[in-house]
Amino acid sequence: MSEKDAKTIGIIGGGQLGRMLAMAAAHLGRRVVILDPQAEAPAFQCANEHIVAAFDDADALSKLAQMSDVITYEFENVNVDALRKLESTSDCHPNTKALSTSQDRLVEKTFFRELGIGTAPFFDIDSITTLEVCLKETNHRGILKTRRMGYDGKGQVRISDKDPDWMMNCKELIENAPCILEGFVDFDREISIIAARDKNGRIEAFDVGENVHKNGILYTTTVPADVSDNTRSSAYNIAEKVLSALDYVGVIGIELFVMNNGELIANEFAPRVHNSGHWTEAACLTSQFEQHIRAVSGLPLAKTTRHSNCVMQNLIGDEVNQAIEILKRQDTLLHLYGKAESRPGRKMGHFTTLHEK
Ligand code: AMP
Repeated sequence: MSEKDAKTIGIIGGGQLGRMLAMAAAHLGRRVVILDPQAEAPAFQCANEHIVAAFDDADALSKLAQMSDVITYEFENVNVDALRKLESTSDCHPNTKALSTSQDRLVEKTFFRELGIGTAPFFDIDSITTLEVCLKETNHRGILKTRRMGYDGKGQVRISDKDPDWMMNCKELIENAPCILEGFVDFDREISIIAARDKNGRIEAFDVGENVHKNGILYTTTVPADVSDNTRSSAYNIAEKVLSALDYVGVIGIELFVMNNGELIANEFAPRVHNSGHWTEAACLTSQFEQHIRAVSGLPLAKTTRHSNCVMQNLIGDEVNQAIEILKRQDTLLHLYGKAESRPGRKMGHFTTLHEK
C-alpha cells in the first residue's frame, strides 16, 4: 500500500449498497464516512463515522469531503451540481460526466448510440402530439418513461392495445416530467455486465449474469448467462467502450437486452455497484464492492475469475422471513441488510447459491 492510497472513503448514500461498500472497505483496512438523510440508514451500522444530512446539503457535503480522501456514491440520483463542486477540490469517482449521463435516459441513449452501441429506437417526448407522431414509428408498441428519476420500473407506461388506460397514463406522465418513448424491444433475455476501471485506465469485467425481474424489481441473477461466447465478448466490448469514453473510475453496471440472433441492445447503465453484481461476493474471490473500493482508492484491481456457477436471489419484503431456512443450506451465502422493517417491494437482503462449474 502506498502513501497515495485513499485511507478514508466518503460515501454518499447509506442504503444496502453503501453498507456493502463499507464492509469491503473495512476488509481492506480502509475507513468510511457515510452521508445519508435517514438517522437509521442501514450503512451507518458498518461505518466508522456518519453524517445525517440531505444529499444536497452543501455544508454536509463539504464536511464529508474534509473527512475523506476520496468521495464515491451508491446511487445515481446524487445532485450533479453538488458533486461538481466537490470534484473541483476533492477526488470524486465516478465523475460527474458518468453521473449526469446516467441520470437522463435521453442523454444516456444518445451516448450509447454515439459509441456505436445498439439501443431501442427512442424519441424525446414533450407532448401527447409528439407521442402520437412517434408511436407511428414504433408500430404503436413502446414504453413511455420519464427521462429522469425512474427506477425499478417506476415512472413508466407500457403502450399496449390491451391497456385501455394507456393514453390517460401517458398524459399524466408527460404533464409531470420530460419523457422519452422507447420502441418495444422483443428481446430473448436480459443480461448485465459489471466491470471496473482503475485510475490508470485498466479494465476488469466480471462474467455476464442473466437477470429475471418480478414486478419491475430484479429477482434473480444467474451466472453464467445462457448466451454465446460472441454475445459475451460483445458485452465486454460495450463495457470497455463505455468506461473509456467516460474516463471512468470505479465499478459500473450495464443492463443489456439479448436479441434472438445474439445481438445486444443497451438499456441503461448505473454508475455504481449494481444489484445484479451481488453474486460476485459468493462466486468470485473479490466482490464488485471490493473492486469498487480498490478502483476509487487507487489500489490495484483484482482478477475477476469466478470459481463457481451461481444464482443470486433478492429477498423482497416478507421474503426475508425465509432467512433461517436459507441459513440451513450448505451451498448458499445469505446477506441481510439490517433494515428494521420489511415493506412490500423493499429489498431486505439476498442470497447466492453456488453450483459446480
Ligand atoms: P428500466 O427502468 O429501463 O430498467 O426498465 C425496466 C424493465 O422494463 C427492463 O428490465 C425490461 O424488462 C423492460 N424494458 C425496459 N425498456 C424496454 C424496452 N424498450 N422494450 C422492452 N422492454 C423494456
